[in-house]
Amino acid sequence: MADLIKIPFTNLKAQYESIRNEIDSALTSTFQLFDFSKGQAVTDFERSFATVVGATDCVSTASGTDALFIALKSLGIGSGDEVITPAMSWISSAETISLCGARPVFVDIDDIYYTLDPARIEEAITSKTRAIIAVHLYGQVCDMNAIRSLCTKYGLSLIEDCAQAHLSKLGDTYAGGYGDVGAFSFYPTKNLGAYGEAGCIITSNRELALFARRFANHGALQRHDHEIEGINSRIDTLQAAVLNVKLRYLEGWNSKRISNALVYADLLFGLDEVVPPAVRLNSVHTFHIYAIRCRERDRLKSFLLQQGIQTLVHYPKALINLNPYRSWGQSARFPVAAALQQNVLSLPIYPELSESDLHFIAEKIKAFYRKSSE
Ligand SMILES: *Cc1c(COP(=O)(O)O)cnc(C)c1O
Repeated sequence: MADLIKIPFTNLKAQYESIRNEIDSALTSTFQLFDFSKGQAVTDFERSFATVVGATDCVSTASGTDALFIALKSLGIGSGDEVITPAMSWISSAETISLCGARPVFVDIDDIYYTLDPARIEEAITSKTRAIIAVHLYGQVCDMNAIRSLCTKYGLSLIEDCAQAHLSKLGDTYAGGYGDVGAFSFYPTKNLGAYGEAGCIITSNRELALFARRFANHGALQRHDHEIEGINSRIDTLQAAVLNVKLRYLEGWNSKRISNALVYADLLFGLDEVVPPAVRLNSVHTFHIYAIRCRERDRLKSFLLQQGIQTLVHYPKALINLNPYRSWGQSARFPVAAALQQNVLSLPIYPELSESDLHFIAEKIKAFYRKSSE
């Protein structure tokens, strides 16, 4: 039986309807200019995004995965090197390390915020360690002060994976502003999403920005002047045109996600079977993902789907349990990530959700646990 979805996990159509005129005219302008690669919208987007996040440079890329890869290459990570990365994340934050010829070294996340646990980093550092990738999972900024101190102490580079953390903040600094370089994804469902694949790096290191710009464009800053070997990882002008429109709405959409999270927290308060997400002190969590921990996760997930509510799991397998890394036989050393994959559940949190949608979802969660305790 095909379940009738009343509340989907994301709703890009509703978002498009709300900004349709602007999007359509931005796309039409690009068609008129025919500057599909390295066009005006790309230059405009890089400038605006750097300004918004408070960096001196933004270099657009073809995806968030490329952004991480280019960030690592720009920092000179290569064969024989080790890079520390969290045990729970999307595979990009591990596979790009291997792609450079280096080795990912996993460190567990902490049990409250689900980000890289600074208390477990030092034991993972060896003479080969060159960098740390701090992933701001779900939109929550890592404990960047502690992580940055460790980087200073051991002379390590710091890369921030901001794919889930557009305009997330710790203190006065936006995600991406703590490290040597921040990598963003504009995959369609991210808080700032293109209508296809796109990404960027931000940095306030001019040299690094120049290297990244060269590397992402076959090693050339000017046509036919290939100073090094690189790759083709440019953003489409059409995607940049979409992002220019959406960037103006990002803050407002994030605020809506944050208020949705507050409503959930209120409605789920006191329910013993559910742990709503915590928010780090003095930070702005932008809730790319609203991840609860819950009892009987898989049964709850199916029950909600029967009620027309689509949920997802981020992620059903921690990185350490994925095929490329599993054989390293180290999963016992990552109890938090291993436990999270069993009981984490992502509820819909997109900005266009109505208050009554949120009430409906919370009611059904409560109904599930009432039923299972009978
Ligand atoms: C989405 C995501 C990426 C990769 O971005 P793509 O644009 O899909 O390549 C990297 N890291 C994290 C944590 C992500 O969520």
